[in-house]
Amino acid sequence: PLSITDPIEEHRICVCVRKRPLNKQEILKKECDVITVPSKCVLLVHEPKQKVDLTKYLETQAFRFDFSFDELASNEMVYRFTARPLVQTIFEGGRATCFAYGQTGSGKTHTMGGDFSGRAQNASKGIYAFASQDVFLLLNQPRYRSQDLEVYVTFFEIYNGKVFDLLNKKAKLRVLEDGKQQVQVVGLQERQVSCAEDVIRMIEMGSACRTSGQTFANASSSRSHACFQIILRRRGKMLGKFSLVDLAGNERGADTSSADRQTRMEGAEINKSLLALKECIRALGQNKSHTPFRESKLTQVLRDSFIGTNSRTCMIAMISPGMSSCEYTLNTLRYADRVK
Ligand code: ADP
Ligand code: MG
Repeated sequence: PLSITDPIEEHRICVCVRKRPLNKQEILKKECDVITVPSKCVLLVHEPKQKVDLTKYLETQAFRFDFSFDELASNEMVYRFTARPLVQTIFEGGRATCFAYGQTGSGKTHTMGGDFSGRAQNASKGIYAFASQDVFLLLNQPRYRSQDLEVYVTFFEIYNGKVFDLLNKKAKLRVLEDGKQQVQVVGLQERQVSCAEDVIRMIEMGSACRTSGQTFANASSSRSHACFQIILRRRGKMLGKFSLVDLAGNERGADTSSADRQTRMEGAEINKSLLALKECIRALGQNKSHTPFRESKLTQVLRDSFIGTNSRTCMIAMISPGMSSCEYTLNTLRYADRVK
């Protein structure tokens, strides 16, 4: 288990990138890996200008982030440098948010730890579980143990601008904004949890709910944002909230030219929400007075995470290393670059 003694970094916005390894199919197809990570922060994309001879026609583009993780980095390592420095924030009455951004298949769900379809449970241990562990670790420290703190979790999905409760059979929920500009998801189930194992059961339940009833060919999970929240309450009143968001595949935003009307509409919605998200994070980072959170359901629901002096956000941009993903990879990196 990790200890929470490392110094907390002070910046409010952290943007990182994670490269996944080539998978078996890509290796079989002799896909070449076009990404290198020469140092802790720098990531290079070697875009072949001609597919025949890679050594001759490479155009290398460099990107700099707070951290760049190569294919050898574990989920735990990624967690350590991204979400973990934010855990303390929620004990201080703040809002912490961590986004997994990227193309479908780039490793968002893997990194968050919301993939329970596979064999080994341990393999699916990701940021959701590590963050939960650390919340309970802090909660049991003497200075917090005496504070009557309670922990709750919620898990919901935003699909085509509508909110569905993953801890309550995908019940469709309404979002209301009251006169005090508080945004509320009406009827969202908040489950009380008393240890990290409790949380993992909720993650497993919600993740199964997310993927239920979808075929591989038309996986709606790639078109939805999944938001898992850890909420800290003191005598009923919310103290802090950690939102961990597994975003819709960003390539779906390009579906606006699809022949199918439904797909087009979903694509437009995804596009809108990812653009709004970028603007909201920028507004937080630059202390702007105007935050365009009403532009999408995603940003509206996360409103309080983009305002206030004690809100901190981290974005992990996931990328696939293969040459065939190069165009999407560059899109992802440019987006992440502009968030800061
Ligand atoms: P996304 O949620 O972005 O669509 P997934 O998380 O489902 O992508 O990842 C796609 C596949 O790649 C999964 O089978 C996953 O286990 C695998 N994968 C993703 N990232 C890694 C990684 N860093 N190491 C090993 N396998 C990975
Ligand atoms: Mg996924």
